[in-house]
Amino acid sequence: MFAKIRNRLTMVYAAVMVCFLISFIIASYTGLVWVLYREEQLDVEAFAKEEAHEHINVLRQKQLSANQPFVEDDEQNDGKLFHYVFDMNNQQVSASEPAPEVRAAIIESIGSWKGADGEAILTKLHLPSDNKNYFMICSLKVYEGDRALGTVFVGKDITSYCIMLKRLLLVLSTVCLLFLVIATFAGHVLAGRAIIPIKNSFSRQREFVADASHELRTPLSVMLSSVDAIRTDDENKFSTFSEQVLDDMKSEIKRMTKIVADLLTLARADAGATNLFKEKFDINNVAEKVIRSFQPVAAEKGIKLEFVGTNNLFIQADRERINQLFLILIDNALKFIQHEGAVILTVKQVTGSKRTVNIIVQDNGQGIPEDQQQLIFERFYRIDKARSRDAGGTGLGLSIAKWIVEAHGGTIKVESSVGVGSTFIVSLPS
Ligand code: ADP
Repeated sequence: MFAKIRNRLTMVYAAVMVCFLISFIIASYTGLVWVLYREEQLDVEAFAKEEAHEHINVLRQKQLSANQPFVEDDEQNDGKLFHYVFDMNNQQVSASEPAPEVRAAIIESIGSWKGADGEAILTKLHLPSDNKNYFMICSLKVYEGDRALGTVFVGKDITSYCIMLKRLLLVLSTVCLLFLVIATFAGHVLAGRAIIPIKNSFSRQREFVADASHELRTPLSVMLSSVDAIRTDDENKFSTFSEQVLDDMKSEIKRMTKIVADLLTLARADAGATNLFKEKFDINNVAEKVIRSFQPVAAEKGIKLEFVGTNNLFIQADRERINQLFLILIDNALKFIQHEGAVILTVKQVTGSKRTVNIIVQDNGQGIPEDQQQLIFERFYRIDKARSRDAGGTGLGLSIAKWIVEAHGGTIKVESSVGVGSTFIVSLPS
């Protein structure tokens, strides 16, 4: 149980950490990308304005005389920055060209340019070499007063920034993964520490239940024998009412004795203080004996109680506990059945991938709703509390049955439909 809580806590810690790390990475990465993008955009837009200003004269001359020579700009250019200047007839007037391998792609891109005037846009260029280059490109119309003289295209190669950002994302993701592993490990250790006080208080509570149940057993048996003594004392003359009160007291004391015994069993099981005394015995003998002991109860309720088994089915188990398991399952089947129903107990060997002995208790009683079929194995869980109480139920029977089965390395499950009946299937290693 504590291992489960610890794992669940670790998972919660890890999930919180993942959410936190992912949000942190997304926020910081997006912020960084935006800052760099905006920086480059402003830079290129300023560069476009500068070039437009510088080329006003050339474009004016070009308008006056069409034979104006082409101007190759001799500015220092490492291929990262470029500009093209076109007149109103789309004739190149001046240029400082980018690196030769991207030239064709850039000319193609500005040929079909659709960006807003003066706004730099990130443009991805697909090169024939299959490489991808990223340019921040801006086009700006050049005016003299209201008269348009031409257009300037400027651009900056920001591929290295983009590659750097991609690498950064990879590094951040790796760091995130690494932190996740560390956080999970740390979470596991912290969860272990966090449950120490819970463990302590649980074990104190367990000890309390065990001690209280143990201490209550003696006074309860004294009370029971005292009520019996009063009832059987010939010198006592009771009214009918007093006799009824004494009978009610007796049945309540019996009920309390059963709850106390069940609680003690579970408290000892929780503390691991219950030893199983395993021996080899014929499980059919035990089943037959239990069936015989329930026959009068079944007959009184008009229920047909049947046993189907094969001889000599030996099992290595705790005889007393297996007997208790039969008692719980048959008692429930008889308790939650209408008058004149039928209960069949089958004990058989199953040879599949593993050899098991299956105990099947089938009744045609009221059935169990599907959403409660798992809950009935929990302590004090009863579908109809009043009915279970009237029938002498405590809500602890199936918890004890589950513990007995699991302590023997087996499984227990229920198949049931409301109004049709229930089948409890226990599978024990043979
Ligand atoms: P109880 O002492 O009430 O029988 P159990 O733990 O044995 O406690 O059973 C828990 C609840 O499961 C019961 O109160 C009942 O509602 C339901 N239940 C158990 N066995 C059957 C059955 N054979 N048919 C219908 N309901 C059942």
